[in-house]
Amino acid sequence: MDPLLLIPGPSPVAPRILEALARPTVSHVSAVLAADTRLALDHLKSIVFTRVGHPFILAGAGTLAMEIALVNLARPESRILIVSQGYFGDRMAEIAAAFGLEHERLQSPWGSVVAAEDVARRLAERPFDLVTATHVDTGSGGCAPVCAYAAAARAAGALFILDGVCATGGIEERMDDWGLDVVLTAAQKCLGAPPGLAVDVFSPAALERRLSLGAIRAYYADILRWRPVMDDPSRYFSTPCVNEHRALAEATRLIMEEGLAARFRRQAGLGRAARAGLAALGLELLTEDGCRADTLSVVRYPEGLDDAAFRAAWLRHGVQVAGGLAATAGRVFRMGHMGNLTGDQLLFAFEALEAAWSELGRRGDTGAAPRAVREALAGPAAEAGS
Ligand code: PMP
Repeated sequence: MDPLLLIPGPSPVAPRILEALARPTVSHVSAVLAADTRLALDHLKSIVFTRVGHPFILAGAGTLAMEIALVNLARPESRILIVSQGYFGDRMAEIAAAFGLEHERLQSPWGSVVAAEDVARRLAERPFDLVTATHVDTGSGGCAPVCAYAAAARAAGALFILDGVCATGGIEERMDDWGLDVVLTAAQKCLGAPPGLAVDVFSPAALERRLSLGAIRAYYADILRWRPVMDDPSRYFSTPCVNEHRALAEATRLIMEEGLAARFRRQAGLGRAARAGLAALGLELLTEDGCRADTLSVVRYPEGLDDAAFRAAWLRHGVQVAGGLAATAGRVFRMGHMGNLTGDQLLFAFEALEAAWSELGRRGDTGAAPRAVREALAGPAAEAGS
Protein backbone atom coordinates (compact mmCIF):
# COMPACT_ATOMS: atom_id res chain seq x y z
CA MET A 1 0.00 0.00 0.00
CA ASP A 2 1.17 3.55 -0.69
CA PRO A 3 2.24 5.39 2.45
CA LEU A 4 0.24 8.20 3.99
CA LEU A 5 1.99 11.26 2.61
CA LEU A 6 2.88 13.54 5.51
CA ILE A 7 5.70 15.37 3.81
CA PRO A 8 5.12 19.14 3.78
CA GLY A 9 3.58 18.94 0.33
CA PRO A 10 2.34 17.39 -1.82
CA SER A 11 -0.40 16.69 0.70
CA PRO A 12 -2.61 13.59 0.43
CA VAL A 13 -5.03 13.99 -2.50
CA ALA A 14 -8.65 13.13 -1.68
CA PRO A 15 -10.23 10.38 -3.85
CA ARG A 16 -12.78 12.70 -5.49
CA ILE A 17 -9.95 14.99 -6.64
CA LEU A 18 -8.03 12.02 -8.07
CA GLU A 19 -11.22 10.99 -9.87
CA ALA A 20 -11.45 14.47 -11.41
CA LEU A 21 -7.83 14.14 -12.51
CA ALA A 22 -8.67 10.82 -14.21
CA ARG A 23 -11.54 12.24 -16.29
CA PRO A 24 -10.92 12.19 -20.05
CA THR A 25 -8.47 14.71 -21.43
CA VAL A 26 -10.72 17.14 -23.25
CA SER A 27 -9.77 19.88 -25.70
CA HIS A 28 -7.93 22.70 -24.01
CA VAL A 29 -10.30 25.19 -25.64
CA SER A 30 -13.52 23.24 -24.98
CA ALA A 31 -16.51 24.56 -23.09
CA VAL A 32 -16.07 21.72 -20.59
CA LEU A 33 -12.56 22.76 -19.64
CA ALA A 34 -13.45 26.46 -19.74
CA ALA A 35 -16.20 25.82 -17.19
CA ASP A 36 -13.83 23.93 -14.87
CA THR A 37 -11.13 26.60 -15.17
CA ARG A 38 -13.63 29.40 -14.58
CA LEU A 39 -14.90 27.61 -11.48
CA ALA A 40 -11.36 27.19 -10.12
CA LEU A 41 -10.56 30.87 -10.83
CA ASP A 42 -13.73 32.06 -9.08
CA HIS A 43 -13.12 29.81 -6.10
CA LEU A 44 -9.49 30.93 -5.82
CA LYS A 45 -10.72 34.52 -5.51
CA SER A 46 -13.01 33.44 -2.67
CA ILE A 47 -10.21 31.47 -1.00
CA VAL A 48 -8.00 34.58 -0.74
CA PHE A 49 -10.97 36.85 0.04
CA THR A 50 -10.77 39.13 -2.96
CA ARG A 51 -13.60 40.57 -5.01
CA VAL A 52 -11.37 42.64 -7.27
CA GLY A 53 -8.24 40.46 -7.71
CA HIS A 54 -7.16 38.82 -10.96
CA PRO A 55 -6.36 35.10 -10.57
CA PHE A 56 -3.95 33.27 -12.88
CA ILE A 57 -3.44 29.51 -13.13
CA LEU A 58 -0.37 28.32 -15.08
CA ALA A 59 1.20 24.92 -15.54
CA GLY A 60 4.15 24.88 -13.19
CA ALA A 61 4.77 24.83 -9.47
CA GLY A 62 5.24 27.23 -6.59
CA THR A 63 8.62 28.41 -7.81
CA LEU A 64 7.09 29.55 -11.10
CA ALA A 65 4.40 31.35 -9.11
CA MET A 66 7.17 33.20 -7.23
CA GLU A 67 8.95 34.08 -10.46
CA ILE A 68 5.71 35.30 -12.04
CA ALA A 69 5.11 37.67 -9.14
CA LEU A 70 8.60 39.15 -9.29
CA VAL A 71 9.05 39.53 -13.03
CA ASN A 72 5.62 41.06 -13.50
CA LEU A 73 6.04 43.66 -10.75
CA ALA A 74 9.71 44.60 -10.67
CA ARG A 75 10.92 47.60 -12.60
CA PRO A 76 14.54 47.44 -13.76
CA GLU A 77 15.35 50.05 -11.09
CA SER A 78 13.19 48.44 -8.39
CA ARG A 79 14.45 47.94 -4.87
CA ILE A 80 12.99 44.84 -3.29
CA LEU A 81 12.82 44.03 0.41
CA ILE A 82 12.67 40.27 0.88
CA VAL A 83 11.48 39.25 4.33
CA SER A 84 12.69 35.72 4.99
CA GLN A 85 12.31 33.30 7.86
CA GLY A 86 13.94 30.40 6.03
CA TYR A 87 14.50 28.39 2.90
CA PHE A 88 11.80 29.79 0.63
CA GLY A 89 12.37 33.44 1.44
CA ASP A 90 15.95 32.78 0.46
CA ARG A 91 14.68 31.30 -2.80
CA MET A 92 12.86 34.55 -3.55
CA ALA A 93 16.22 36.31 -3.17
CA GLU A 94 17.77 33.81 -5.60
CA ILE A 95 15.06 34.55 -8.16
CA ALA A 96 15.61 38.30 -7.75
CA ALA A 97 19.34 37.73 -8.22
CA ALA A 98 18.73 35.62 -11.34
CA PHE A 99 16.94 38.59 -12.90
CA GLY A 100 19.58 41.05 -11.73
CA LEU A 101 17.11 42.86 -9.47
CA GLU A 102 18.38 44.93 -6.58
CA HIS A 103 17.21 43.34 -3.37
CA GLU A 104 17.88 43.19 0.32
CA ARG A 105 17.07 40.32 2.65
CA LEU A 106 15.63 40.96 6.09
CA GLN A 107 16.10 37.65 7.75
CA SER A 108 15.29 35.90 11.00
CA PRO A 109 17.08 32.82 12.31
CA TRP A 110 15.32 29.60 11.32
CA GLY A 111 12.64 28.87 13.87
CA SER A 112 11.59 32.47 14.44
CA VAL A 113 10.08 35.12 12.17
CA VAL A 114 10.94 38.75 11.40
CA ALA A 115 8.98 41.14 13.65
CA ALA A 116 6.60 43.44 11.78
CA GLU A 117 8.22 46.44 13.52
CA ASP A 118 11.55 45.49 11.96
CA VAL A 119 9.94 45.45 8.52
CA ALA A 120 8.38 48.86 9.15
CA ARG A 121 11.71 50.22 10.46
CA ARG A 122 13.67 49.06 7.43
CA LEU A 123 11.06 50.50 5.09
CA ALA A 124 11.34 53.84 6.90
CA GLU A 125 15.13 53.79 6.57
CA ARG A 126 15.36 53.15 2.83
CA PRO A 127 12.91 53.37 -0.05
CA PHE A 128 11.67 50.07 -1.48
CA ASP A 129 8.93 49.66 -4.05
CA LEU A 130 8.35 45.92 -3.54
CA VAL A 131 8.21 43.80 -0.40
CA THR A 132 7.95 40.02 -0.42
CA ALA A 133 7.29 37.63 2.44
CA THR A 134 6.63 33.96 3.00
CA HIS A 135 3.52 33.18 5.02
CA VAL A 136 4.68 29.75 6.19
CA ASP A 137 8.26 28.73 5.52
CA THR A 138 8.30 25.02 4.85
CA GLY A 139 11.94 24.74 5.87
CA SER A 140 11.67 26.37 9.30
CA GLY A 141 7.99 25.93 10.16
CA GLY A 142 7.68 29.65 10.94
CA CYS A 143 4.37 31.40 10.28
CA ALA A 144 4.89 35.14 9.76
CA PRO A 145 2.61 38.06 10.80
CA VAL A 146 1.91 38.87 7.16
CA CYS A 147 -1.09 41.12 7.74
CA ALA A 148 1.18 43.49 9.70
CA TYR A 149 3.92 43.22 7.05
CA ALA A 150 1.37 44.19 4.40
CA ALA A 151 0.31 47.22 6.43
CA ALA A 152 3.95 48.32 6.73
CA ALA A 153 4.47 47.89 2.98
CA ARG A 154 1.34 49.86 2.20
CA ALA A 155 2.37 52.68 4.56
CA ALA A 156 5.72 52.84 2.71
CA GLY A 157 4.02 52.92 -0.70
CA ALA A 158 5.43 49.52 -1.73
CA LEU A 159 3.57 46.63 -3.32
CA PHE A 160 3.42 43.47 -1.21
CA ILE A 161 3.90 39.93 -2.57
CA LEU A 162 2.86 37.05 -0.33
CA ASP A 163 4.18 33.53 -0.87
CA GLY A 164 1.29 31.45 0.40
CA VAL A 165 2.52 28.12 -0.96
CA CYS A 166 2.30 26.43 2.44
CA ALA A 167 -0.69 28.44 3.70
CA THR A 168 -3.22 29.51 1.07
CA GLY A 169 -6.44 27.58 1.59
CA GLY A 170 -5.40 26.44 5.07
CA ILE A 171 -4.60 29.67 6.90
CA GLU A 172 -6.58 32.86 6.44
CA GLU A 173 -5.25 35.36 3.89
CA ARG A 174 -7.56 38.32 3.25
CA MET A 175 -6.25 39.88 0.09
CA ASP A 176 -8.54 42.92 -0.15
CA ASP A 177 -8.77 43.68 3.58
CA TRP A 178 -5.06 43.26 4.28
CA GLY A 179 -3.86 45.00 1.10
CA LEU A 180 -1.99 42.03 -0.41
CA ASP A 181 -0.90 42.79 -3.98
CA VAL A 182 -0.02 39.27 -5.07
CA VAL A 183 -0.95 36.06 -3.30
CA LEU A 184 0.87 33.16 -4.87
CA THR A 185 0.58 29.47 -4.23
CA ALA A 186 0.71 26.04 -5.83
CA ALA A 187 -1.84 23.28 -6.22
CA GLN A 188 -0.23 20.62 -4.06
CA LYS A 189 -0.26 21.89 -0.51
CA CYS A 190 -3.16 23.48 1.36
CA LEU A 191 -5.40 23.40 -1.73
CA GLY A 192 -5.11 19.61 -1.71
CA ALA A 193 -4.72 19.07 -5.49
CA PRO A 194 -1.92 17.08 -7.13
CA PRO A 195 1.26 19.02 -8.02
CA GLY A 196 1.53 20.78 -11.38
CA LEU A 197 -0.10 24.20 -11.16
CA ALA A 198 1.13 27.64 -10.16
CA VAL A 199 -1.42 30.14 -8.88
CA ASP A 200 -1.00 33.92 -8.66
CA VAL A 201 -3.73 36.36 -7.71
CA PHE A 202 -2.89 39.95 -8.65
CA SER A 203 -4.58 42.97 -7.05
CA PRO A 204 -5.75 45.80 -9.34
CA ALA A 205 -2.70 47.82 -8.20
CA ALA A 206 -0.40 44.91 -9.09
CA LEU A 207 -1.99 44.58 -12.51
CA GLU A 208 -1.62 48.31 -13.02
CA ARG A 209 2.08 48.03 -12.16
CA ARG A 210 2.48 45.28 -14.75
CA LEU A 211 0.70 47.39 -17.36
CA SER A 212 3.02 50.30 -16.61
CA LEU A 213 6.15 48.22 -17.26
CA GLY A 214 5.83 47.65 -21.01
CA ALA A 215 8.00 44.74 -22.15
CA ILE A 216 9.34 42.49 -19.38
CA ARG A 217 11.99 39.78 -19.43
CA ALA A 218 9.52 36.92 -19.62
CA TYR A 219 7.35 35.31 -22.25
CA TYR A 220 5.45 32.35 -20.80
CA ALA A 221 5.48 33.96 -17.34
CA ASP A 222 4.13 37.31 -18.60
CA ILE A 223 0.65 37.60 -17.08
CA LEU A 224 -0.48 39.91 -19.87
CA ARG A 225 -0.25 37.01 -22.33
CA TRP A 226 -2.47 34.98 -20.00
CA ARG A 227 -4.95 37.66 -19.11
CA PRO A 228 -7.29 37.07 -22.09
CA VAL A 229 -7.28 33.33 -21.29
CA MET A 230 -8.15 33.92 -17.64
CA ASP A 231 -10.98 36.25 -18.72
CA ASP A 232 -12.23 33.65 -21.19
CA PRO A 233 -10.71 30.19 -20.61
CA SER A 234 -11.86 28.93 -24.01
CA ARG A 235 -9.14 31.12 -25.59
CA TYR A 236 -5.64 29.87 -26.41
CA PHE A 237 -2.23 31.14 -25.47
CA SER A 238 -0.35 27.99 -24.47
CA THR A 239 -1.84 24.56 -23.82
CA PRO A 240 -2.95 24.36 -20.19
CA CYS A 241 -2.57 21.31 -17.98
CA VAL A 242 -6.07 20.08 -18.87
CA ASN A 243 -6.47 17.26 -16.36
CA GLU A 244 -4.84 19.27 -13.59
CA HIS A 245 -7.30 22.10 -14.16
CA ARG A 246 -10.14 19.63 -13.71
CA ALA A 247 -8.57 18.34 -10.50
CA LEU A 248 -7.99 21.87 -9.20
CA ALA A 249 -11.60 22.76 -9.93
CA GLU A 250 -12.70 19.78 -7.84
CA ALA A 251 -10.21 20.65 -5.07
CA THR A 252 -11.55 24.19 -4.84
CA ARG A 253 -15.14 22.89 -4.96
CA LEU A 254 -14.33 20.70 -1.96
CA ILE A 255 -12.86 23.70 -0.12
CA MET A 256 -15.95 25.79 -0.74
CA GLU A 257 -18.19 22.93 0.36
CA GLU A 258 -16.24 22.58 3.59
CA GLY A 259 -16.44 26.36 4.07
CA LEU A 260 -13.41 28.54 4.63
CA ALA A 261 -14.00 29.23 8.32
CA ALA A 262 -14.49 25.51 9.01
CA ARG A 263 -11.42 24.64 6.97
CA PHE A 264 -9.20 27.11 8.82
CA ARG A 265 -10.56 25.74 12.11
CA ARG A 266 -9.87 22.16 11.03
CA GLN A 267 -6.36 23.15 9.94
CA ALA A 268 -5.70 24.83 13.31
CA GLY A 269 -6.98 21.70 15.05
CA LEU A 270 -4.63 19.48 13.02
CA GLY A 271 -1.72 21.72 13.99
CA ARG A 272 -2.63 21.58 17.68
CA ALA A 273 -3.14 17.82 17.56
CA ALA A 274 0.17 17.16 15.79
CA ARG A 275 2.03 19.31 18.33
CA ALA A 276 0.29 17.53 21.21
CA GLY A 277 1.22 14.10 19.81
CA LEU A 278 4.85 15.12 19.30
CA ALA A 279 5.06 16.59 22.80
CA ALA A 280 3.68 13.36 24.27
CA LEU A 281 6.75 11.61 22.88
CA GLY A 282 9.01 14.28 24.36
CA LEU A 283 9.86 15.71 20.95
CA GLU A 284 10.68 19.40 20.57
CA LEU A 285 9.99 21.71 17.67
CA LEU A 286 12.57 23.80 15.84
CA THR A 287 10.04 26.61 15.63
CA GLU A 288 9.49 28.96 18.56
CA ASP A 289 6.20 29.09 20.36
CA GLY A 290 4.15 31.97 19.01
CA CYS A 291 5.06 31.52 15.34
CA ARG A 292 4.42 27.82 14.79
CA ALA A 293 2.61 27.03 11.57
CA ASP A 294 -0.48 24.84 11.76
CA THR A 295 0.29 23.34 8.35
CA LEU A 296 3.54 21.56 9.22
CA SER A 297 5.78 20.78 12.18
CA VAL A 298 9.57 20.89 12.03
CA VAL A 299 10.80 18.56 14.76
CA ARG A 300 14.27 18.33 16.33
CA TYR A 301 15.79 14.89 16.68
CA PRO A 302 16.60 13.96 20.25
CA GLU A 303 20.11 12.76 21.03
CA GLY A 304 20.87 9.43 19.38
CA LEU A 305 17.95 9.26 16.96
CA ASP A 306 19.22 8.80 13.42
CA ASP A 307 17.34 10.65 10.68
CA ALA A 308 17.42 7.94 8.02
CA ALA A 309 16.68 5.09 10.46
CA PHE A 310 13.80 7.00 12.05
CA ARG A 311 12.11 7.95 8.81
CA ALA A 312 12.58 4.45 7.41
CA ALA A 313 10.98 2.92 10.52
CA TRP A 314 7.96 5.25 10.33
CA LEU A 315 7.67 4.52 6.60
CA ARG A 316 7.60 0.76 7.32
CA HIS A 317 4.54 1.53 9.40
CA GLY A 318 2.90 3.40 6.53
CA VAL A 319 3.80 7.06 6.99
CA GLN A 320 6.21 9.19 5.01
CA VAL A 321 7.69 12.40 6.40
CA ALA A 322 10.53 14.56 5.08
CA GLY A 323 14.01 15.37 6.32
CA GLY A 324 15.38 18.82 7.04
CA LEU A 325 16.45 21.36 4.41
CA ALA A 326 19.85 23.06 4.13
CA ALA A 327 21.64 23.36 7.50
CA THR A 328 18.88 21.45 9.31
CA ALA A 329 19.38 18.27 7.22
CA GLY A 330 19.85 15.31 9.57
CA ARG A 331 18.88 17.42 12.59
CA VAL A 332 15.11 17.65 12.08
CA PHE A 333 12.24 15.92 10.36
CA ARG A 334 9.37 17.80 8.76
CA MET A 335 5.83 16.56 9.08
CA GLY A 336 3.11 18.10 6.94
CA HIS A 337 -0.46 18.20 8.26
CA MET A 338 -2.30 20.26 5.71
CA GLY A 339 -4.82 20.20 2.89
CA ASN A 340 -7.53 17.58 3.14
CA LEU A 341 -5.79 15.49 5.78
CA THR A 342 -8.36 14.12 8.22
CA GLY A 343 -8.13 13.76 11.98
CA ASP A 344 -8.33 9.98 11.56
CA GLN A 345 -5.35 10.03 9.21
CA LEU A 346 -3.36 12.07 11.72
CA LEU A 347 -4.30 9.63 14.46
CA PHE A 348 -3.17 6.73 12.28
CA ALA A 349 0.14 8.54 11.75
CA PHE A 350 0.75 8.80 15.49
CA GLU A 351 -0.19 5.17 16.10
CA ALA A 352 2.34 4.28 13.42
CA LEU A 353 4.88 6.64 15.02
CA GLU A 354 4.53 4.89 18.37
CA ALA A 355 5.05 1.52 16.71
CA ALA A 356 8.19 2.84 14.96
CA TRP A 357 9.30 4.45 18.21
CA SER A 358 9.33 1.22 20.20
CA GLU A 359 10.86 -0.65 17.26
CA LEU A 360 13.77 1.80 17.51
CA GLY A 361 14.15 0.86 21.17
CA ARG A 362 12.72 4.12 22.48
CA ARG A 363 10.59 3.85 25.58
CA GLY A 364 7.55 5.87 26.36
CA ASP A 365 4.07 5.72 27.78
CA THR A 366 2.42 3.44 25.22
CA GLY A 367 -0.65 5.05 23.77
CA ALA A 368 0.21 8.53 25.08
CA ALA A 369 0.79 10.15 21.69
CA PRO A 370 -2.42 8.92 20.01
CA ARG A 371 -4.30 9.80 23.20
CA ALA A 372 -2.91 13.35 23.12
CA VAL A 373 -3.83 13.64 19.43
CA ARG A 374 -7.36 12.38 20.08
CA GLU A 375 -7.85 14.83 22.94
CA ALA A 376 -6.51 17.78 20.97
CA LEU A 377 -8.74 16.91 18.01
CA ALA A 378 -11.72 16.91 20.35
CA GLY A 379 -11.12 20.64 20.94
CA PRO A 380 -8.97 23.23 22.70
CA ALA A 381 -10.88 22.78 25.97
CA ALA A 382 -10.07 19.07 25.98
CA GLU A 383 -6.42 19.86 25.16
CA ALA A 384 -6.18 22.23 28.12
CA GLY A 385 -7.47 19.43 30.30
CA SER A 386 -10.46 21.42 31.48
N1 PMP B 1 7.32 28.58 -1.24
C1 PMP B 1 7.06 27.80 -0.19
C2 PMP B 1 6.67 28.44 1.10
C3 PMP B 1 7.14 26.42 -0.33
O1 PMP B 1 6.87 25.65 0.71
C4 PMP B 1 7.51 25.85 -1.56
C5 PMP B 1 7.59 24.36 -1.76
N2 PMP B 1 7.89 23.59 -0.69
C6 PMP B 1 7.79 26.71 -2.61
C7 PMP B 1 7.67 28.07 -2.43
C8 PMP B 1 8.20 26.19 -3.95
O2 PMP B 1 7.19 25.44 -4.50
P1 PMP B 1 7.45 24.30 -5.58
O3 PMP B 1 8.23 23.23 -4.90
O4 PMP B 1 6.05 23.88 -5.92
O5 PMP B 1 8.19 24.93 -6.70
